[in-house]
Amino acid sequence: MYSNTHPVNVLKFCPRCGSVHFPATGNRSFQCDDCSFNYYVNSSAAVAVLLFNEKGELLLTRRAIEPHLGKLDLPGGFIDPMESAEQSAVREIQEELGIPVHSLKYFGSFPNEYVFSGFSVFTIDLAFFAQTENLNEMTAMDDVASFEFHKLQDIDPKEMPSISMFNIIKELIKREGTY
Ligand SMILES: [Zn+2]
Repeated sequence: MYSNTHPVNVLKFCPRCGSVHFPATGNRSFQCDDCSFNYYVNSSAAVAVLLFNEKGELLLTRRAIEPHLGKLDLPGGFIDPMESAEQSAVREIQEELGIPVHSLKYFGSFPNEYVFSGFSVFTIDLAFFAQTENLNEMTAMDDVASFEFHKLQDIDPKEMPSISMFNIIKELIKREGTY
């Protein structure tokens, strides 16, 4: 059945009229019995940015927030409403690491269930390669505690608990030499 944090087990009231008669009508939708408001649980779009140093090592960050506080992650985050994925990638790197990136190139999309404040947010994480001339000017900020570079093959899955982020690493290894 659904996890405790799945929307079906968390959302109790209609967000429009406040009615308690707000049943799930499937695994990803709700309809209010009183005002007919429909609410759908869709994937939230997010970006992950792939930056390599001159030795071919990938930039990873240490999370400054839950979930997975202190564990490895890729830089990136949720796409704002009405923002493009490319704009989001540039903004997130500026916010988290304080440097500009450019020449974004799409790599692939990776689904995830991201549990934040006791609520499952289903995400689709869009991975982009990016370029920068400012790697040696990075500063960890925002929800990033620190950063480090790793060879793809040396990344420990236990240190990278996010399923989508680790699947990006696996796909990078599988497709090495093609990008
Ligand atoms: Zn309602």
